[in-house]
Amino acid sequence: MTIDNYNFANKKAIVRVDFNVPLDENGHITDDTRIRGALPTLKKILNDGGSLIIMSHMGKPKGKVNAKYSLSQIKDDVAKALGTDVIFAPDCANAKEAAANLKPGQVLLLENLRFYPEEEGKPVGIEKEDPAYEAAKKEMKERQKDFSKTLASYADVYVNDAFGTAHRKHASTAVIADYFDKDNKMLGYLMEKEVQAVDNILSNIQRPFTAIMGGSKVSTKIGIIENLMDKVDNLILCGGMTYTFAKAMGGKIGDSICEDDKLDLAREIMAKAKAKGVNLVLGTDCVAGNAFSNDAETMICPSNDIPDGWEGMDAGPETRKAFAEVIEPAKTILWNGPAGVFEFDNFTAGSRAIAEAIVKATEKGAFSLVGGGDSVACVNKFGLADSVSYVSTGGGALLEAIEGKELPGVAAIKK
Ligand code: AMP
Repeated sequence: MTIDNYNFANKKAIVRVDFNVPLDENGHITDDTRIRGALPTLKKILNDGGSLIIMSHMGKPKGKVNAKYSLSQIKDDVAKALGTDVIFAPDCANAKEAAANLKPGQVLLLENLRFYPEEEGKPVGIEKEDPAYEAAKKEMKERQKDFSKTLASYADVYVNDAFGTAHRKHASTAVIADYFDKDNKMLGYLMEKEVQAVDNILSNIQRPFTAIMGGSKVSTKIGIIENLMDKVDNLILCGGMTYTFAKAMGGKIGDSICEDDKLDLAREIMAKAKAKGVNLVLGTDCVAGNAFSNDAETMICPSNDIPDGWEGMDAGPETRKAFAEVIEPAKTILWNGPAGVFEFDNFTAGSRAIAEAIVKATEKGAFSLVGGGDSVACVNKFGLADSVSYVSTGGGALLEAIEGKELPGVAAIKK
């Protein structure tokens, strides 16, 4: 069920969006991609003559009210993006009256859902090892149902357009759907587009398929790396995880970031790639810095021979060339995670080379999907977001979908 076939006239729609946008120290949005991503759905509802109840989480307030994560900080940005006033409900679980008073065309923004532990549904203040944990979990699941029911009571129809949290079975992303009949719950445009993009990668692979996985750690990407191994022709592993691999092969990595407990895992990945005939591409040289700072002194050195006092912070020139050589001829491309500390302008060259090679491949007809907060920030920083096939708003959700897992946010609508 998609929103295209639904007439929202005189209906109250509660829409789960992902407005978990990055804020600077003054509470100003630094990247509004996620707000822009939800606009087609929100505007369709308003244009039909419906009223909107927008709900989202922001950050990790861990079930407690915390002004740092208040969605009131982005109320004016949302109003500007929608071109209409936004009413703010400072307590998402006590907004029944505000919702009831909404007239067609009006917008209510609920405060951060994660100010309530019921949103995530995990018991707070008790460890898994505690004998009372199971009982606490059960109790929290009941509270989560009540919380979901309250949210559902505000509206006639539920729309989930929060792809970024579609891999979570939270009150607002999944449980709430139980309180709407099948004709009154649906996926928004963004969700639909995201699900289609994943489908393009999974079921319509044009070869060669090159995946580029970067970021700081191998441990957080292992599921997807293993899954991709069955699908890709080329697998580029870059960013901070380069040095775990370099060390696993006996290299000297100076002060580079490294997961010492993942050396065996790195060796297993290399062996698996070999066994499956996947061309695993790792950095051979790097831009090392003598401090974790944009102003650090830099030098180019082999990724497996970095002096003490220096750390690998970006892909070196030889590596950038090798990456481009397997990206440019590809017909299907997935990029998740930067090749260096791209937040520092002096360490963006590796990520830039990847982005530019992806753009070249896309111009030649490849389908390219860029996902995960940091890679998206990279293509935005380089002004290349419009030159790739699809920029996903999801990080974890995208990776889980590509791993082949069913997303609870999507499953709840289908149920
Ligand atoms: P992740 O959250 O695991 O996707 O990692 C993203 C982060 O990895 C970004 O903040 C990058 O600055 C960081 N990163 C990439 N390369 C390196 C590196 N060589 N050393 C330290 N951090 C890195």
